[in-house]
Amino acid sequence: MKAAVVKETAPGERRVALVPDAVAKLRPAGIDVLVERGAGEGAWLPDSAYAEAGGTIVGTTELFAAADVILTVTRPSTAMVDQLSKGQAIIGMLAPLTDPELAAELAARGVTAISLDGLPRTLSRAQPMDALTSQANVAGYKAALVAAAAFGRFFPLLITAAGTAPPAKVLVLGAGVAGLQAIGTAKRLGAVVSGYDVRPAAKGEVESLGATFIQLASAVAAAGEGGYARELTPEERAAQQEELAGHIARHDVVITTAQVPGRSPPLLVTDDTLKAMTPGSVIVDMGASVLGGNVTGSVPGETVVTGNGIMIIGADNLPATVPTAASNAYSRNISALLLHMTADGALAIDTNDEIQAGVVIAHDGKVVHEAVARLLPAETLTKGGAADVRGTTD
Ligand code: NAD
Repeated sequence: MKAAVVKETAPGERRVALVPDAVAKLRPAGIDVLVERGAGEGAWLPDSAYAEAGGTIVGTTELFAAADVILTVTRPSTAMVDQLSKGQAIIGMLAPLTDPELAAELAARGVTAISLDGLPRTLSRAQPMDALTSQANVAGYKAALVAAAAFGRFFPLLITAAGTAPPAKVLVLGAGVAGLQAIGTAKRLGAVVSGYDVRPAAKGEVESLGATFIQLASAVAAAGEGGYARELTPEERAAQQEELAGHIARHDVVITTAQVPGRSPPLLVTDDTLKAMTPGSVIVDMGASVLGGNVTGSVPGETVVTGNGIMIIGADNLPATVPTAASNAYSRNISALLLHMTADGALAIDTNDEIQAGVVIAHDGKVVHEAVARLLPAETLTKGGAADVRGTTD
């Protein structure tokens, strides 16, 4: 089987799906690796490193002509999709719940689509494949650094001959994988850190990192399925926003990471809350995306400064800004999944397997993942996918 590593084309994307180390590890399973010229450059991984590890460096046309499986980090561009042909497979973070039309188009082309973001994450044997976790860890770490770099004062308490600087007060909203890593990193930088989440289980995790957990009087049991949070009702959300406002206003730096799978990110910092904050405060909104964000007025990929001097950083793709660490981790995740799905040197699709049932989105000309299929119009499914309904992802 030939597995091909593409050069990512999304703006600002510096990660690569496979690092040179992985090439030799795939070989015993009968997997030869093709690498698109310059694929690892963004992560400072030169073609020569892949070649030394046993990979074959190829141009784009040759790659798509020869590959059995294409390995990617993010959703493929339109140009990439156009080069895929029947019988090929693509593995990446395809975000099928936010872009089900891509799944439909891949199905229509007879391409098998496998998405790491569908992995059943609570299954212990799936943990080495958990790219959402590995990338969220990178993102949480970088969010704290971005906040520290943007903040006009120190994070730690500093006592110097020129005076004493108080430590920054940092609040992390959403204490999942990214939030806990942001808390840990801000603590290591010397800030006084608090954390908050709607899931009751988060309290112990926040406190185990030496941070203070913010308990709202209006707290409701909001744990959903699979360890995730559920979406709050409009009344619950309003009560949460109102009570959080006072806490947010007392902090210098706020890092927001709240997500609910398949939904728009919950709004935690409202316009009124922004107005109550002190000039010079910094917010890093990791929820910022085309679906909205955790903060009113945040713009993905941009920094907005409000009229009262609050800096809102729309941090939409932080893992791409720590490309070597993020690629190393992602490479281990995608290799583990590829090896799990390979038998006798070929991809062996078996949706009776719990892991495959989560990750296989399209196969044999059909969108086979139920949750994704439910998002598509019925006529799309009966036609076996529709190129004309797909949004552009490049
Ligand atoms: P996520 O990215 O979906 O969300 C980030 C955080 O936002 C979550 O902690 C969530 O509770 C929180 N959140 C959602 N709505 C909120 C709101 N209105 N206000 C405040 N916070 C809100 O979550 P994640 O980081 O991917 O992980 C979620 C959970 O899954 C965690 O408990 C994590 O430990 C667990 N998990 C378990 C495994 C495993 O068992 N192997 C693997 C990965 C994650």
